[in-house]
Amino acid sequence: MSPHFSLQYLRSGALPTAFCPGCYNGIIINALMKAFRELGVTKLDRYVFVSGIGCSSWIPNPYIRADSVHTLHGRAVAVATGIKLARPDLEVIVIGGDGDLLSIGCNHLIHAARRNMELVVVLVNNLVLGMTRGQASPTTPQGTRTVTTPFGNFEEPMNAVSLLMSTNANYVARWCISNFEQLKESFKEVLSKVTKGLRFIEIVAPCVTYVVRYEGKTPGEKIKELARTCVDKDTYASLSPKERRDLIPVGVFRRENKPGFIDRYREYSTRARG
Ligand code: SF4
Repeated sequence: MSPHFSLQYLRSGALPTAFCPGCYNGIIINALMKAFRELGVTKLDRYVFVSGIGCSSWIPNPYIRADSVHTLHGRAVAVATGIKLARPDLEVIVIGGDGDLLSIGCNHLIHAARRNMELVVVLVNNLVLGMTRGQASPTTPQGTRTVTTPFGNFEEPMNAVSLLMSTNANYVARWCISNFEQLKESFKEVLSKVTKGLRFIEIVAPCVTYVVRYEGKTPGEKIKELARTCVDKDTYASLSPKERRDLIPVGVFRRENKPGFIDRYREYSTRARG
C-alpha cells in the first residue's frame, strides 16, 4: 500500500491544509480516508458531503475529492436532508462542529434524528468556537478558560450522545481523537450501510489552539491524556460518580436498524395511493 494511498480521495492542491499546526482535524480526515480505502471504495462519486461554518466544516470542502456543499452556518443538516430526499441513491455525510451542529443548527439535528433521516452526521466536538478564535460553545466543559469565559466557563456543557439517544437515530457513537482505530471502524460501519437511518458519530477533538495550548499542553500530551480519560462506556457505567469525574465514556451507544424516514415515507405513499 502506498504511503500516500489516501491522496486518491483528496483534491489536488488540498495540502498543506488551512488548519492550525497540530490540529486534530487531520487525524479525522486520515481515519475517514482509511475507512474508504478498507471498504474498497475507489471513487467517492456516490457520496455527497455537506458542511456549515467552522473549522471542521473545512474537512470535506475543499479537501475531499467528492461533491460537497459548504452551506450556511448551522444549516448543514437541513441542506443534507434536502439532498437525500432529492437523491436517495447518494450517501449524504454531514461534517460539522459543536458550534454548527449543537448551537445554531441544533434544531435541525434533533429533528433529522427524530425522523431517523438517512444521513451520516459526524460531530467534531472541539469544545470551543475555534474558527472565530475560541469563544465558549455548548460543549465547553465547566471551568474551561476561553476568550469569553476568562475566569472559566460557568455553564454546564451539553451531552450530544445523550441528546441523540433521546431521538430515533439508529446509530449513536462517541470516540475521542485518541481512539483512531475505533473511529475508523465506526466510519466503516456507518458507511457500509450495515445500519440505515441517521448514523451519528461524535468525535471529541479539543481545539489545539484555543483549548489544548490554553491548558499549557502540547497536542501530543493532550492525546495521551485523552487515551487515559476516554474510557469504554461499560467501564464508565460501573464506576461511582466520584470515579467518573473527568472521564469521557466512549463506544457505540446504540446500533439499531429501524426503517429510516425515506423507507417509511415510501411505505406511507404506497398506502395513500392504494
Ligand atoms: Fe483546529 Fe482549533 Fe485551529 Fe480550528 S482553531 S483549525 S479547531 S486548532
